[in-house]
Amino acid sequence: MAIELSTPRFNLEQERKRLIEELERLNVNGGTKDERQKSGTYGNREEAADATTDLERRIALETQKRNSLAGIERALQKIDAGTYGICDNCGKPIDPARMEALPHAVYCMTCSSACKK
Ligand SMILES: [Zn+2]
Repeated sequence: MAIELSTPRFNLEQERKRLIEELERLNVNGGTKDERQKSGTYGNREEAADATTDLERRIALETQKRNSLAGIERALQKIDAGTYGICDNCGKPIDPARMEALPHAVYCMTCSSACKK
């Protein structure tokens, strides 16, 4: 039974577009680069702590979105390569229920949980 690919491809492309837009928004409004440099200096400790918390949250958010984006792009590559739904690590088919829940999954359940220490 072949996996229907037009739906996940469409969903992944929509998701990718959304993530790129969100990342652009984070960059435009954030001035993240400047603040990253500033956070290395120790001036007023309380202000620095606030700024760091805010900055850390934004960096964490950005990192999370970049990771999601990378995962989505990897999944799209796999659709093009004809290996979508096949585990990147062990080469076995990924449980279709997992693919439905996580359309960008590139590892099967076993390999994925093995990665998580
Ligand atoms: Zn696997």
